[in-house]
Amino acid sequence: MRGPLLVLCLFLGQWVCGESRDVQRQRETVTPDYAIYHNVSSVLHEIDALVSRSESLLHYGKLYESTQGRLIPSVKIRNASGISAGPHGRRIQVLIVAGEHARELVPVEWVLTLLSTALVAEHAPQDSARGKLMRWLLSNFDLTVIPLLNPDGRAHLESSLNYCWRGNARGVDLNRNFDWDFGGKGASLNPLDEEYCGTHALSEVEARALRDHLTRESFDVFISLHSGTRQIYLPYSDGISWSSGRQPRFHTDMISILRTALRLHSSQIPDRSFQGGAAHQLLDYPASGTSFDYVVGRELAPLGFAVEVYGNLSHKSDGCFDIFNPVATELPAALAVADTFMVALLKAVQMHWTSTLNTWHERQRSLPLDNQIEASAYQAPWTILLICAAILGGLVFMQRKSVLLPHLPPVTHTVM
Ligand SMILES: [Zn+2]
Repeated sequence: MRGPLLVLCLFLGQWVCGESRDVQRQRETVTPDYAIYHNVSSVLHEIDALVSRSESLLHYGKLYESTQGRLIPSVKIRNASGISAGPHGRRIQVLIVAGEHARELVPVEWVLTLLSTALVAEHAPQDSARGKLMRWLLSNFDLTVIPLLNPDGRAHLESSLNYCWRGNARGVDLNRNFDWDFGGKGASLNPLDEEYCGTHALSEVEARALRDHLTRESFDVFISLHSGTRQIYLPYSDGISWSSGRQPRFHTDMISILRTALRLHSSQIPDRSFQGGAAHQLLDYPASGTSFDYVVGRELAPLGFAVEVYGNLSHKSDGCFDIFNPVATELPAALAVADTFMVALLKAVQMHWTSTLNTWHERQRSLPLDNQIEASAYQAPWTILLICAAILGGLVFMQRKSVLLPHLPPVTHTVM
């Protein structure tokens, strides 16, 4: 974000300031090899082929349409052939969304791998490692995936060769377009900025598609997949929470899940650690209007995570592609790391689930819908804010220290 420059640009116009570097094409040292990476059309073909080949495991859910009329499918991974529900008698409902940001290809690839692994495991011997993992997964979870939420942005990236492109067809950053501190700090009202949030909350059909899916079905866990580093964030990331230290209702549960997931992952792949923490503690910038803040803040699901599944932490060139994605030959290894972490996260959710579930459903039964917090209305008086600023600063510093953070280089680009 370039605060003073942005204000100047808004007053003087684009002819003075020119196009923001954020959304301009850069000289790339690495580009995707589409013999290995999927492009926007092969993503959809692959999903279709996998669903068609599945006997009972993969099912299309609701199909949505992008601004330019491309398909945005949702797919359910749900056993329909007799695996009983887990120890708590109810499978945990999880929604995983990838491809919100056009330039982040690797999360989309991971979701496709998840679908193809599920398909292979459907026919694997029950005592094989894959068979056992899938049996555990299916007895504890119903997974729904939206593999590519922003197909127009991806199509633009492919036709323009601008691998820095993050927005949708209208240049809107979908992860700033949701109705939670919309237009707050970390979002931009300048269409030339990569964090352009749109004209109003949920102005974009892709964001509305996600909202509709969340309200159409009932989910327990929302996972927003990104890339650019190896971190997992808990809500909230918005400007108000950045200043006030506001925390979601199930913050303690999510911290427990996070700690368990980090421990499980690092016990398996210690040299590919993830960092984790509340977004407003871990990131160097606030991000207002994000999907996971919206889902958790509006209580569309009790638990929400944003997972950055890959990052090139030694990146030095001007290009964008290799900040967010591995070269094609390294894609399988990157997906294996992401796979281990996502399994660790789901295992952690399952281990800590019972207490969250009971509290959540009790609350859902008793809470009138209009009793939810209005983010835009949440404004502490300035005097109180000023008095509390020093105390909060100290608390935030102490909280930073209290979260498990293996050392990783600082992130210098916008990832979420
Ligand atoms: Zn992202």
